[in-house]
Amino acid sequence: MKVVSSEIVISAVKPDQYPESNLPEFALAGRSNVGKSSFINKMLNRKALARISSKPGKTQTLNFYLINEILHFVDVPGYGYAKVSKKEREAWGKMIETYLTSREQLKAVVLIVDLRHPPTNDDVMMYEFLKHYNIPCVIIATKADKIPKSKWQKHLKVTKETLDLDPQDSVVLFSSETGQGKDEAWSILKGYMRQ
Ligand code: GDP
Repeated sequence: MKVVSSEIVISAVKPDQYPESNLPEFALAGRSNVGKSSFINKMLNRKALARISSKPGKTQTLNFYLINEILHFVDVPGYGYAKVSKKEREAWGKMIETYLTSREQLKAVVLIVDLRHPPTNDDVMMYEFLKHYNIPCVIIATKADKIPKSKWQKHLKVTKETLDLDPQDSVVLFSSETGQGKDEAWSILKGYMRQ
């Protein structure tokens, strides 16, 4: 998809702050520092639209981005940041759960993992949560540029096995550095927009 416009429309913490439009939405989830902001910026051809607000320690909000006036990306705060208190973690969990389980416009969750390492326990928990609620998901295995091409398939296999991946779910090899996987990711998202 050729992205010609992208802007943040709201940072929300509760449902009455979500945009009222019926546009299709994709939520972006992943552990802190996995490369989620870089993924969003690459997909939107922007240098720094997604950034500091989603960093650990900052206010935990759902950031809604309007793209080409036809869809929303919803940036979910990263999980698995060790220094976050139990109370903050619980608030995070509640906010995400409310959004993911009640938002009718949500077409799919884009779960971002690091291709270099097996998915973490938090990644597995997030994936299991999505499967439990039958929320469609697309796995993005990012930072592919950081490992040699000859090892991609081996790492992909570990990613799939660790998540116990449902064969219906797609995994996209991605790099925010090279743009690899961008067209494939957009084409999968476009497929979900039609559903
Ligand atoms: P976030 O916390 O998940 O939003 O992660 P960021 O997008 O801020 O990325 C964390 C770090 O990983 C930054 O230093 C990025 O430059 C780097 N990074 C993210 N994606 C890639 C990638 O595809 N390739 C490489 N080489 N570095 C990446």
